[in-house]
Amino acid sequence: MKRFTFKSLLQSSGWNDNVTVVVDENGRISELLENTDDKGEIIQGYAIPGFQNAHSHAFQYAMAGRAEQHQNPDDSDDFWGWRETMYQLALSITPEDLYSIAKDLYSEMLRNGYTQVAEFHYVHHQPDGRPYPNLAEMGEALLKASRDTGIKITLIPIFYQKGGFGKAPNDRQRRFISENVEDYRKLLDATIEVAEKYPLANVAIGIHSMRGVDPQDIVKVAKEFPQDLPFHIHIAEQLKEIEDSIAFLGKRPVEWMLENVAMNHRFHLVHASHLTEKETEGIAKSGANVVLCPSTEGNLGDGIFPLINFQKLGGKWSIGTDSHIGLNPMEELRILDYGQRLISHKRNIMIGNGFNDSGRYAIHQATLAGRKAMNNFEETYFKVGADFDACVIAAEHPTLANEDKSNLASRIVYSSDSSMVKCVFVRGRLMVVV
Ligand SMILES: [Zn+2]
Repeated sequence: MKRFTFKSLLQSSGWNDNVTVVVDENGRISELLENTDDKGEIIQGYAIPGFQNAHSHAFQYAMAGRAEQHQNPDDSDDFWGWRETMYQLALSITPEDLYSIAKDLYSEMLRNGYTQVAEFHYVHHQPDGRPYPNLAEMGEALLKASRDTGIKITLIPIFYQKGGFGKAPNDRQRRFISENVEDYRKLLDATIEVAEKYPLANVAIGIHSMRGVDPQDIVKVAKEFPQDLPFHIHIAEQLKEIEDSIAFLGKRPVEWMLENVAMNHRFHLVHASHLTEKETEGIAKSGANVVLCPSTEGNLGDGIFPLINFQKLGGKWSIGTDSHIGLNPMEELRILDYGQRLISHKRNIMIGNGFNDSGRYAIHQATLAGRKAMNNFEETYFKVGADFDACVIAAEHPTLANEDKSNLASRIVYSSDSSMVKCVFVRGRLMVVV
């Protein structure tokens, strides 16, 4: 048993200065004691729930900042040009490369306050496109990186089948492809089997995108695959994708999903940048969640998600770092908020759940929907019986010294940088100290 007492702990009911967290040998919270004399280790920090990184492609960390060169000094680029650079990288990496990239990345995620990552993993096969003898060889490289750094992982082996709506895959996509639902089932089963050896891991289901899988196969996977696993899908990220969807299906991607798939709380729609009001309402009403990746969406010129309307309808959202051009959860929340402020000409647009404070609301949404993306439906921030996963912000930092508790969460969200993350706890283990 270990005991930790913080300058303050953000509980679901608010900040509490007097609580001591007792952690058992399995890293679970065994007691939350108020005003106890035995405070254990005292940490001069503000503890908040560990951040959930609900969308990651680990290998893309190797190209962060490397797709900003101008092919021609007078020409701009777009998502589809960036994708070609990404394909070149995807064709070159070995399982050993992926392990070392992911190890660096996950260490940095921990340093920034993330305690769990959802890995949207689609580089499955050998460079020539043949499957590895262990179908989950590349996925296991990610599991090893999680084990060796100490971050929890939800590994999502991705079903990727097409080169576009109704199009055969192109040769540069050969490492990603499962030809049919049966092949994807084998990949998922192999991933589930290998993940059982890694105590920090679990598995979810994922479809690359509407353009990446035959629509009827999306329906099959949604209906026939395990119903107790989260279901992740990239959707409506780029305008061209909407146009191609209308040309092929006569429907916009989200419109089609709402009509053909019984979406609920286990669905996580990544990006959903381009929505009609009806689609926004449809997602919120279905209970499906949206995963927003503001630094990547900005970097790729995707578009801006209609957050204000979605919130009014009670929609649920989490954050992810996707291509890892940025790795700071506070920065993701700020970019998300500021994008909305810039297009609406309003302030304090982060509204909902009864909070009268933008920072508290942002942490709440990102935590709860982020946990769901990892198949964790716990809504209480720190609960007896749950793993002790926390992000601790340095209380001695000048920005936070003497801060009134009513402003503290927003001070952390809007005015901190990664140097202010003092440490994280993952399953009760103190992971980083700066
Ligand atoms: Zn992505």
